[in-house]
Amino acid sequence: MVLMLEPLFRCNLACAGCGKIQYPAHILRKDMPLDEALRAVDECGAPMVSLAGGEPLLYGPIRELVQELANRKKYIYLCTNAILLKEKLEAGWFEPTKYLTFPVHMDGPRDDHDFSVCREGTYDKAMVGIRTAVEMGYRITTNTTLFEGADPNAIRDLFDEMMDAGVEGMTISPGYAYEAAADQANFLGRKKTSALFNMLLSNRRKRWKFNQSVLFLEFLMGKRQFDCTPWGNPTYTLFGWQKPCYLVNEGYVDTFDKLMTETEWPSYGFESGNPKCANCMVHSGYEATAVDHTFTSIRSLFATIKAMMFSRYSSESAAKALEDEKSKPHGPEAHLVQLGLDVDALKTAKKTAAREAATIA
Ligand code: SF4
Repeated sequence: MVLMLEPLFRCNLACAGCGKIQYPAHILRKDMPLDEALRAVDECGAPMVSLAGGEPLLYGPIRELVQELANRKKYIYLCTNAILLKEKLEAGWFEPTKYLTFPVHMDGPRDDHDFSVCREGTYDKAMVGIRTAVEMGYRITTNTTLFEGADPNAIRDLFDEMMDAGVEGMTISPGYAYEAAADQANFLGRKKTSALFNMLLSNRRKRWKFNQSVLFLEFLMGKRQFDCTPWGNPTYTLFGWQKPCYLVNEGYVDTFDKLMTETEWPSYGFESGNPKCANCMVHSGYEATAVDHTFTSIRSLFATIKAMMFSRYSSESAAKALEDEKSKPHGPEAHLVQLGLDVDALKTAKKTAAREAATIA
């Protein structure tokens, strides 16, 4: 179980696909009091805490929070866009420890990533942050979310780049089709998700390391069927415990106990028939199922060991599909509508961001 802790919504980027930066200014200015954050951690008891937001490096008491979590022997995943990573590490904000990992958000190769976050130069800054952290002995992973229009060949190249940079492991997941999105066609349905991940993860290069359950990766490739475990990643935000999951917001409760006992869990997950869950294959819901499945029987334990030992997944049809993709158009415009913004608005945002960047330079 991983606690998703969002102690702020403020960010130093304004990504077109992000729902958090759309909160009013008085919410964006807010930091969760440290004692409240720690109370949520203790209440939940999860061994892993993912610090998200917003950009957690902008959270006022981030150093104290990390120290307190390490004292409690929690595994901390400080999710960051890495813009400030070099500066904060060189300023001595943290100490390398096995308890602290920085998952860096990388949406794709340079152009796709910069377009996605609406600011040019962000990919290069993130890479500087990653290399600095690796050199200083910190644990670095990456987090890549894929949408319709993603170029599987480019993403495979990104995997190589991340391994070259010394990243410990990569996390990949399809994006979640938020209800408010203007153009639902830009999200991957289940069939498309499986086709994309089958191309990405078949004929796998030996050097790629994923920081994920091997059975979850097989699920993404369409080789397994799982249902969601919506309570696997409980989420605590500035507003309280979010019902039911990180992705769907159906209100908040003030205690973890209420979240667990008052949520109608059977109403969520693919098999529930809930339209909000129909196309979701996101790791925050399904990886917990995959991990749990590993330990349900000798057969599934054996399947996990087999998947770890024979991880190449050779497939001629996947290789051909990957080759065919080289002649198809890809690009960021096709996959960046998330919360009611249309493609034209995104193009304008990109131009504005480029103009601002030029002015700053
Ligand atoms: S299927 Fe996805 S959206 Fe639905 S409860 Fe699970 S994680 Fe949340």
